[in-house]
Amino acid sequence: AKQNGSAQYRFYDADSDRNSQEEIRLEQELEDAVEQNQLRLLYQPKFDIRSGETIGYEALVRWHHPVLGEIPPLRFIPLAEKNGMIVPIEQWVLRTACLQAKSWQSEGHPPLPIAVNISQVHLMKPDIYETILQTLSETNFDPTLLELEITESAMMHNEEHVIEILDKLKAAGISVSMDDFGTGYSSLSYLHSLPITCLKIDRSFIRKITTDKDSKAIAEMIISMAKQLELTIIAEGVETLEQVALLEELQCYNVQGFYYSRPLSPEQIHYKNSITAS
Ligand code: C2E
Ligand code: CA
Ligand code: CA
Ligand code: CA
Repeated sequence: AKQNGSAQYRFYDADSDRNSQEEIRLEQELEDAVEQNQLRLLYQPKFDIRSGETIGYEALVRWHHPVLGEIPPLRFIPLAEKNGMIVPIEQWVLRTACLQAKSWQSEGHPPLPIAVNISQVHLMKPDIYETILQTLSETNFDPTLLELEITESAMMHNEEHVIEILDKLKAAGISVSMDDFGTGYSSLSYLHSLPITCLKIDRSFIRKITTDKDSKAIAEMIISMAKQLELTIIAEGVETLEQVALLEELQCYNVQGFYYSRPLSPEQIHYKNSITAS
């Protein structure tokens, strides 16, 4: 052993080695996932707590791996961002969500906005505006019903480029929400200069909103700021009736979370709709 006291001993860690090998394998297999139709979308409804009505849906991607089974997005999205596969994945998500929403409309359901998540890597693609518009025209989907959810942190890279893209999207009628708001430390002036329509309060605040007075204070501040900036506001990750009651008191009426509904398959939504329709 060394004698200077700063020696670093590294032990072979079979577990983390196996993990990183699996990550590499998954990263390579992401290409098959798109080509071999292994991706699925679930749709989580968003609600107005005053009417109890569904006000829109968020599309959330799932990967059914042929051997490993379902792989959560928090595991494969970062890999897809690393190797660029996130772009074809999100193009598939957008196309599939538009087609799904069209099919709900053709079944006679009122047209509701549908949201898809756009990663930072995708946002930075020079042709993102053109490819989104192309998908909308190919699927014949109304741009005013499309909402893009972009995280606060993703919007903080290359601010000039972001403003330029969002301006073009807005001019085309597409709305943009700032996702996971409160976790990215964007400045008030930047927030003001962004052509966004909605703030999504991050789940980390909502989770503690009834038990931790700091979280409540932060949520309260975000809600009143959104009002000042004339942005709509939605709370994500709402799990309890107590949270619903407090959010209503704070005049945040749009919510998304397990208390109302988990993300649902198209079959589950079809079933739910057929019950409320009858
Ligand atoms: P997100 O955009 O913040 O989506 C909300 C996540 O919270 C979803 O997890 C949803 O199932 C979960 N959730 C909703 N309500 C509740 C609740 O009441 N309690 C709790 N504990 N969780 C709730 P999911 O589907 O596992 O997705 C995780 C993340 O993966 C998403 O977070 C999003 O960042 C990412 N993701 C999913 N699909 C895409 C995609 O197409 N593109 C990108 N870039 N990211 C995606
Ligand atoms: Ca989201
Ligand atoms: Ca979110
Ligand atoms: Ca979140």
